[in-house]
Amino acid sequence: KLHNTILELKGNIRVFCRVRPLLRFDGDSNGPEGASISFPTSVESTGRAIDLMNQGQKLSFSYDKVFDHSASQEDVFVEISQLVQSALDGYKVCIFAYGQTGSGKTYTMMGRPGIDQKGIIPRSLEQIFKTSQSLESQGWEYSMQASMLEIYNETIRDLLAPGRPNSFEMTPSKQYTIKHDSHGNTTVSDLTIIDVFSIADVTTLLEKASQSRSVGKTQMNEHSSRSHFVFTLKISGANESTGQHVQGVLNLIDLAGSERLAKSGSTGDRLKETQSINKSLSALSDVIFAIAKGEDHVPFRNSKLTYLLQPCLGGDSKTLMFVNISPEASSVGETVCSLRFASRVN
Ligand code: ADP
Ligand code: MG
Repeated sequence: KLHNTILELKGNIRVFCRVRPLLRFDGDSNGPEGASISFPTSVESTGRAIDLMNQGQKLSFSYDKVFDHSASQEDVFVEISQLVQSALDGYKVCIFAYGQTGSGKTYTMMGRPGIDQKGIIPRSLEQIFKTSQSLESQGWEYSMQASMLEIYNETIRDLLAPGRPNSFEMTPSKQYTIKHDSHGNTTVSDLTIIDVFSIADVTTLLEKASQSRSVGKTQMNEHSSRSHFVFTLKISGANESTGQHVQGVLNLIDLAGSERLAKSGSTGDRLKETQSINKSLSALSDVIFAIAKGEDHVPFRNSKLTYLLQPCLGGDSKTLMFVNISPEASSVGETVCSLRFASRVN
């Protein structure tokens, strides 16, 4: 299949672009001084290419796949279900959502309430539990463990820690030290890891994690868009009749907003936040670029996120990056940055 050819060519890295539809409130989303009228950027997309007009200039980008505003959550999932399946086959998989705040990252990863609105995380889990159950008839037995963390200012927070969400520690006493063993297994000291047996188990955990994040929100400015959310599902499969064993990992990551620092006015905590987001997003880009180019040295250690995910990036693991973009004219500068970021990866 073409699918796999692309996977091989790109060192198992693919980039999909998703343009969200124009929303009713976009016209008012220019911020407090929002005097300028927002109208849609002219974004034209076909299956793999995207053209956008910026200051009278046409810019063209191409990706492994482009989803326009009309793509449903189901349309998107159809294109990634094979990748999700490979985690059950023992691969390490990472799916990222990259883009400015408001571009549709969380919609793509988590989705919204409503039957057709579910995003990649719930759909992946449904598929994984369903498929693992159907493989029981062939002698497979799977066990799964979930963890959920966020990385804020280069600090890991355990979203499933006992006592959460009511006690949101601003300065965690735990170290959350990341260690990799020679088999490519990652452990984070003190991180809560929960055995999960059903989609309902994971849904409960996702709710808890989301509460933990929103408790942070009242204490910190727009906290959830300023931190990376990492959901990890470890999958172990054993087949008694054939003696086979597999160890797969599925990492689903809703990245912090990629918007650049406002030209003026950022000081103190906000400045530190933005600098640390910029640093970790560029570290991620450097890592993915180095892998895609087949470079000998991959700078995993330049950020917590890349170090945490090191065994799941490169090698025979599989990476998919969604670049989420907004169609608003007022976002065109950020949109161009996001498209460039991703075409560098591509
Ligand atoms: P981000 O996580 O990048 O900040 P969100 O996912 O929260 O952005 O999206 C911003 C708003 O746009 C939300 O109200 C979300 O429901 C809506 N939205 C995003 N993508 C889509 C889409 N493809 N279709 C419909 N609504 C969308
Ligand atoms: Mg979000």
